[in-house]
Amino acid sequence: MQPILDIKNLKVYYHTSLGPVKAVEDVSFSLKPGERMGLVGESGSGKSTIALALMKAHKYPANIETGEIIVDSINIIDLDEEEMRKTRLNNISMIPQGAMNSLNPVKKIRPQVIDALTDHGVKLGNKEEFLSALMKSVGLPKDVLKLFPHELSGGMKQRVCIAISISMKPKVIIADEPTSALDVIVQRQIMETLYKVQEELGAACILIGHDMGLMAQFADKIGIMYAGKMVEFGSVYDIFKNPQHPYTRLLIDSLPDTSGKRDLIGIPGIPPSLLNLEDGCSFCLRIGKKNTNEIPWVKVSKGHYIQKCLNCFDYGLRKKTATKRTRK
Ligand code: ADP
Ligand code: MG
Repeated sequence: MQPILDIKNLKVYYHTSLGPVKAVEDVSFSLKPGERMGLVGESGSGKSTIALALMKAHKYPANIETGEIIVDSINIIDLDEEEMRKTRLNNISMIPQGAMNSLNPVKKIRPQVIDALTDHGVKLGNKEEFLSALMKSVGLPKDVLKLFPHELSGGMKQRVCIAISISMKPKVIIADEPTSALDVIVQRQIMETLYKVQEELGAACILIGHDMGLMAQFADKIGIMYAGKMVEFGSVYDIFKNPQHPYTRLLIDSLPDTSGKRDLIGIPGIPPSLLNLEDGCSFCLRIGKKNTNEIPWVKVSKGHYIQKCLNCFDYGLRKKTATKRTRK
């Protein structure tokens, strides 16, 4: 099956007065229709910048330096704003980070949903039928259309945002931290809704976040981002059962173990600044090492790859065994 989304060597920099912030550095991955991918990494690792670039919704000082973003065989980098407007929602759509707070507080839900559609050139035949079916697909009663955003709970607002983003049956859905700021019960409901609509549409989906537990439940494959670079890519099974990059291992170790058999292991140091970031391995900088050589992609197994830096790939392996202990 042909990929519906193919990203090749994407580089996005923010050109600030202090120098370039290398927010996305040479990221490549592809998704087939119906596939779910998790994009994981700590705050500031470039996840939202990738999402915005995929929608070509990035704003100055952000600039796509190089790369291809092929959606359904079209390189959207080449599209002008008018063509891109048709592609958004139609082919690729995004639930932006903090989407529920982006609803207009002084406008009822109905005109906001309709605006989003007409803005993308849709002429609705039977508007009422369409709107109630749309609301129903995200588990909301159609009466919600008559309300203002402040009359809805956080989960309901997020559902409205999902409804807007799937309204034109996109082939690719990007959900940028759709459940942050929601309590765990609502989190689960929102994830179930996203799963359901994505399955119904047969769309490929990119779920952005840092919650490895959520990723394990939702995604088929996972890309781990660290300091603007993708450092490991593989199936959920590979990433959890055989993590190879030290940062991936640390992310997994920082999850609580429900059997209570080991201490939580935090991630040491602070993420490097992406401003004027030097070439080479960024994870080395975190642990007081240095490697300015180009880091090669190494195949671990079919579909499982890591950026293998010889200075740090085994970081934490011995330490991990040392801190394992059984609670009495
Ligand atoms: P994430 O979504 O993983 O938290 P972002 O994509 O939001 O990360 O940010 C990636 C990097 O780009 C961060 O270092 C952030 O500080 C920087 N950045 C984001 N927006 C801007 C901007 N408008 N100007 C300069 N730097 C920015
Ligand atoms: Mg973000």
